[in-house]
Amino acid sequence: MKKIFIITFIVILFVLAFAFYKLVFSQKEKTILQMTEDEAFYLEDVRIFGNHMNLSGCLDTKLDSDLSLILKSDEDEFVIDSTFSSNDGKTCFSLSDKNNEGINLDELNEGKYLLLVKNTVEKDEYFYTIENSTDYKTLEYYTITKNNKNNKIDFKSVTDEDLNKNYIEFNIKDTKLPSDVYDITIDPGHGGYDPGASYTLNGKTYNEADLTLMVSLLVKKELEDLGLKVKLTREDDTGLYYYGENGRADIPNDVKSKFSISIHLNSDYGIMSYGGVEVYTPNDVNYDLASLFAKNIGQIVGYSKKATDKVSNGIYFQYFTSRDIEDSRKEAIEKGNKPYDIKEGAPYMYMIREVGGKQTYAYVDGRNEDVGINKYYDAIQVAEPYLLEIAYINYESDLYKILNNTDEFATAISNSMKEYLKIS
Ligand SMILES: [Zn+2]
Repeated sequence: MKKIFIITFIVILFVLAFAFYKLVFSQKEKTILQMTEDEAFYLEDVRIFGNHMNLSGCLDTKLDSDLSLILKSDEDEFVIDSTFSSNDGKTCFSLSDKNNEGINLDELNEGKYLLLVKNTVEKDEYFYTIENSTDYKTLEYYTITKNNKNNKIDFKSVTDEDLNKNYIEFNIKDTKLPSDVYDITIDPGHGGYDPGASYTLNGKTYNEADLTLMVSLLVKKELEDLGLKVKLTREDDTGLYYYGENGRADIPNDVKSKFSISIHLNSDYGIMSYGGVEVYTPNDVNYDLASLFAKNIGQIVGYSKKATDKVSNGIYFQYFTSRDIEDSRKEAIEKGNKPYDIKEGAPYMYMIREVGGKQTYAYVDGRNEDVGINKYYDAIQVAEPYLLEIAYINYESDLYKILNNTDEFATAISNSMKEYLKIS
């Protein structure tokens, strides 16, 4: 009798010890994925503009509690700035309506993360996976070079067969930048068959194409001094195609650069000469970078007095109005071309609109063979494009500065990038 009691006691002791062990260690043993709910969010949209990623998605259930979008690894939890809304029995998240906002990909730490939604109910945390319902199952991004270092971010959709779960992973590793990947593209406007605007000063005629190249070569050098890898669309007086193999608008995305900066000189033929800088921006962006360009170049030549398309001092956004679209349609038909599907509000300048792909309503889709095809007209991962009219070629005090203080313009542009990208 006593023996049985002892054995029973020992068995109970073992059971209790095992239960205690399970209780203490089970949390650790569970992978993040095992902790997630059965129901999953689905990703509806993903895009990368410059160095920012934007995401949106939904869950077919209404959740009213404290929700956040997170990147979670074994050790780390990174909260993504996001907005949740609940209606029609759904719960949806989005990041920003600005193309150049969302997740700053250059600021993520190395590691392997799951993209999850965390629901905090009182003190309990519930995690939801996010299934990728978009057409873009894998994306790769090379961070901007800082201190001679780059990370490669692999965004991919993964299926765990055992747990029957689909989820999104961010795998971030230190890497060397491949030889064909660049940080920034600088595009010296015009060239070759296209000299751009010109002006004769003291008997000498200056062409826009030569002056933009002169400035761009200096900008390249200054950006390289900051450690950035810079691609020029042309390095001499070569005439470029707009689209197609080596097309000017394709180059920034061919080399996976995060920013594309076209450098031009303005010209007006009216009675009044404006002078000063005009920074042309893409649609739906915050003006953080544009403001830096305008401020720094404006310190040399002042802000342009042009009022049309003006957003604020030195910052301009020129876009297709419904009337422009109708004019363009008529012109295409007259020339025997097929009219493009131009969206109202699309940036007017092709080095902004076409470089920015889907997010800037690029439309050169190859329907007119003689125009060519922009390989990236439908792309969701693109360079963030700007066009800088750094001064007026026919405003003599501006032209003097371009000729005599060329390096000041280069420094203004490189300092803007340095400050925006927080390069120390
Ligand atoms: Zn130009």
